[in-house]
Amino acid sequence: MKTFQGIAASSGYAVGPVHKIRLKTIVPARRSIRPTDISTEKSRFGQAVAIARDEIQDLIKQLERDLGPEEAGILSSQLFILEDEMVWDATLAVIQLDRINAEAAFAKTVGDVAARFLEIEEETFRERVNDLRDVEQRVLRAFLGDIPAESILPKVPSIIVSRNLTPSDTAALGRDLVLGFVMDEGGNTSHVAILARSLGVPALVGLKDASPALENGIEVAVDGIAGILTVQPDEQTRGRFSMLQCQQVVINEKLAGLKDLEAITPDGHRVRMMANIELPIEVDEALARGAEGIGLLRTEYIFFQHQTIPSLDDQVRIYSEMVRRMAGRPVIFRTLDVGGDKVSDYLGAKREYNPFLGWRGIRFSLANRVLFKTQIKAIYQAATVGSAKLMFPMISGVQELREAREVCQEAVAELERDGIPHTPSLEIGIMVETPSAVLVADLLARECDFFSIGSNDLIQYTLAMDRGNSRVSYLYQPLHPAILRSIKDTVLAAHEAGIWVGLCGEMGSETRLAEVLLGLELDEISLHGAALPKVKQVIRWTKLAEARRIVDHLLSVSTAEEGNRWLADYINHRKRERGEGEEL
Ligand code: PEP
Ligand code: MG
Repeated sequence: MKTFQGIAASSGYAVGPVHKIRLKTIVPARRSIRPTDISTEKSRFGQAVAIARDEIQDLIKQLERDLGPEEAGILSSQLFILEDEMVWDATLAVIQLDRINAEAAFAKTVGDVAARFLEIEEETFRERVNDLRDVEQRVLRAFLGDIPAESILPKVPSIIVSRNLTPSDTAALGRDLVLGFVMDEGGNTSHVAILARSLGVPALVGLKDASPALENGIEVAVDGIAGILTVQPDEQTRGRFSMLQCQQVVINEKLAGLKDLEAITPDGHRVRMMANIELPIEVDEALARGAEGIGLLRTEYIFFQHQTIPSLDDQVRIYSEMVRRMAGRPVIFRTLDVGGDKVSDYLGAKREYNPFLGWRGIRFSLANRVLFKTQIKAIYQAATVGSAKLMFPMISGVQELREAREVCQEAVAELERDGIPHTPSLEIGIMVETPSAVLVADLLARECDFFSIGSNDLIQYTLAMDRGNSRVSYLYQPLHPAILRSIKDTVLAAHEAGIWVGLCGEMGSETRLAEVLLGLELDEISLHGAALPKVKQVIRWTKLAEARRIVDHLLSVSTAEEGNRWLADYINHRKRERGEGEEL
């Protein structure tokens, strides 16, 4: 039995035969053309694009039917690519100036645009290359009068294996015959991961070189929790999987039952449960998991989805749609947090020697006031259709907060002056994610309406460990006494000033830390939708008094290791007390 370790992108377990998707890549031959053929080639290009457009529109309809309008939206970006002047006009210009055949001109144009995207060190742009290639191959097939990709459907329920599925291939597969996805490439935010989560089937991505080792029809087992692929599982492994599948069904049913219940402890303490999202497409998932609002919208991802900075109108439209869909539940808009690992060329944030200590978050926004004010205006306008709050990233002291608030005042004054509908009084909060913000939390709390602790950065900066460097990843220690003390001090400072405090870093998604966050007396936890029901369940099981004792103990030990061991023993003990069938 051979196994591969990948990234668990969508949870669940599946066993089934491999169905490999290996679309042959079309590389068009380049032919010189005569000047008199230029217009014929241009119209051939137009016809091929029209066929591709029809195919994509059909797929969008199918996807809307199978999964809903949000998932279908993923493919809309492909329609935009077809109409984008970077692609359309440039192809016509290449036909005209290089005097080559339409398919070669089109492939050259797409290659140039893809190369520009690949220079940008940003995953979202890499995803766009995937979209571009997908569109390119579809158009090239149309030139050849070739079959569309939709003919790749498996005949029996299967595990779909591929190097990297394009969004339209994934969409074309539908939900009936797909037991799971196994991809050599991709990360947690790749389209296939998003769609797999929507389909509710397990997915492994980033398996590197699994697909060449898998033959069509052989049986594989996908563990979407541990991220492991097992090839030709033996009897014992198959038995374990069917048991896990049954358990998962029972657990999911129980957790689904919590959707409309509050996260309230047996001794009556309530915690708000919110979702972290990056893109509008995730709103429905957040609601389906029972999120009481969006606790962190990382707005930079919306910018990264666009090739140019979205205009005020575009931002108003996108933000309003999200606020409207949340139907009165709050959406916390974190203003742009570019820089660090989120570099974007078109925004002018360049690679730096010490990117995480560089031109990042609020520093970038304050240096780009027009861009910043535009975003803030859009948020004030979007707030009119529901509930929105504003949050600034990477605040290190009161001066930055004051300057950011000044921009808010200017934005409101201008909206007022121009008679544009907006909600003038939004709650304004900050991310507490730098050690200095923790140290001056009392001063900051006097000048804002809420705190949200960004534990990812707080751990990075407090323990001096680059969050993107795998060599020091062992230092990602949420239970390090320095981190626990920082959170506790921040909560105290917030409560003394009479403001609420939440946590929106990855710590919130770790079920094993749910009691700890409860005991630290956070008012709100914002986490990945998928993790929300489990954390809520733990809160509903645990008395606040008990959680406080857990935190007191963890604060009394000297190392994260001791804390981890103690907490693991505690959780096991609790599991035994609750008995069989009450585990998560
Ligand atoms: C954090 O730092 O914990 C956080 C939530 O923000 P991001 O991960 O976007 O830096
Ligand atoms: Mg952060």
